[in-house]
Amino acid sequence: MRVGIGYDIHRLVEERKLFLGGVEIPYLKGLISHTDGDVVMHAIADAILGALALGDIGQHFPDSDPDYKNMPSSDILRRVARLVAERNFVIGNIDMAIIAEEPKIHPFRDRMVENISDILGVDKSKINVKATTSEGVGSIGRGDAIAAYAVAVLVEK
Ligand code: MG
Repeated sequence: MRVGIGYDIHRLVEERKLFLGGVEIPYLKGLISHTDGDVVMHAIADAILGALALGDIGQHFPDSDPDYKNMPSSDILRRVARLVAERNFVIGNIDMAIIAEEPKIHPFRDRMVENISDILGVDKSKINVKATTSEGVGSIGRGDAIAAYAVAVLVEK
């Protein structure tokens, strides 16, 4: 059994669409990144790469590479899922937490779980998405950024 941790944060700016867990969430700001800025997908991808001891998404999908510009983060996670199979592992479970002052995440949680389970090819009962605020503290509390933490457990086939 292998365990990996992932973390990501991106700045919120106006005139960007907000994608979290592959769901487009109606909000006046979105996350700035060379991809679609989906911190949920990025944190999960890093947690899985961590469990595989394969570095991080910065190494696998460098922001200096124009191929990855505006790439949907679901594609990044799909490629990471392929590495899991190639290394002869299956996903045991994924747990994660989104830290966002706004917007409310709860109404979109089930769709995020569905997207993640579809991409990873694992049952929804093995994927958990939590959300909390930063209680007004720091950059996230001011609404300047959204962050996500993820933990992945992989089981050898
Ligand atoms: Mg990122």
